[in-house]
Amino acid sequence: MPEQDKRVVRTTLRCLRQDLAQEVGPDELKVALRTVVDDMAADPTYLLPCPLVDAEHAVIEKANLLATDEAAHRERIEALTDRYAIKVKTGDRRAALWQDEDGTWWLLAAGRRKNDTAGDFYREIERFSADATPIAPTDDDYRLQRLETAYEEECEAERAGHAEIVGAVLSAARVPASISTVDVFGAAVSVRIVPDEAGLAVLEMSWEFAEFDQQDRFPMDVLAMVPGRDDIDAWDYLPPRSNSDSPHTWYTYVTAEWVDHMATSAELDELLTNGDDWQPVNPSSDGSEHYSHLAKGSIVTLAYLTGIEITALCGASIVAHRDYERFPVCPTCQESLTLLRSLRNPEGA
Ligand SMILES: [Zn+2]
Repeated sequence: MPEQDKRVVRTTLRCLRQDLAQEVGPDELKVALRTVVDDMAADPTYLLPCPLVDAEHAVIEKANLLATDEAAHRERIEALTDRYAIKVKTGDRRAALWQDEDGTWWLLAAGRRKNDTAGDFYREIERFSADATPIAPTDDDYRLQRLETAYEEECEAERAGHAEIVGAVLSAARVPASISTVDVFGAAVSVRIVPDEAGLAVLEMSWEFAEFDQQDRFPMDVLAMVPGRDDIDAWDYLPPRSNSDSPHTWYTYVTAEWVDHMATSAELDELLTNGDDWQPVNPSSDGSEHYSHLAKGSIVTLAYLTGIEITALCGASIVAHRDYERFPVCPTCQESLTLLRSLRNPEGA
């Protein structure tokens, strides 16, 4: 995202609640702000319904522009002598922006311009001239910032683990009956896909824990990471064989088409090693909703994780998780796959 679209400014809870009162969006944040002080006191891990930087208000938007654009004209608020605060002006709105020692930008206070008459914002904050502590970020502001950072890192780790598991499923699909193992969340997770009769295959997942206290992550939330088998009822449990240290295993039946689809995605990762350059032969998304399309395993993984649209081999935009089984394979995707295979393997073997 371009630098100037980044949201970095944290508005203090005092400023949000008192100065901007009920003008802040989105709605769920506006509602939460009414009780945030009590909620934070009652729950040491309380988080607002959205990251604080996503608070919406005209002065917050303007403050983000000033904070992220190095070339922006920054005008000091001379009335505040104990810190270097910057004027934020938009319409008749005025605010004070300040960057702390750690580089975090804070919107300290906001008000309206009233032509130097009583109630004019920059006149009002003159009373904090020598000591702006009453409008500075509080312990609660800093605590919320630390919690949001920790939560963000946890989500990041969760997404990375999820991508590894989907990747293991793709590798397992590529080589039938092989075991594909990844280390995630303190366990070694193994995936195996064994062809069965009548167009079916058995998808097995097993795990062993490095640390016992990690085991409550399993199995449900890990099984739910398997694309197309995210309904827990689709799985059966196989206990460890007695007198052996074989792992706990869960399994489910999947269709051979599904396995094939996963295998092709994994194969495309290999065929398109520098494949960001791949251009569809006849780019078209005509009638694309009636076909099941092919895409690289790496971007399919991304699509499962985020639900975002990805570009299939034929150029169509698709949402990966609803697209693999119900429809015939897209002829343009199939043509491209055949072409890629023949380029890799000119003898046609
Ligand atoms: Zn296609």
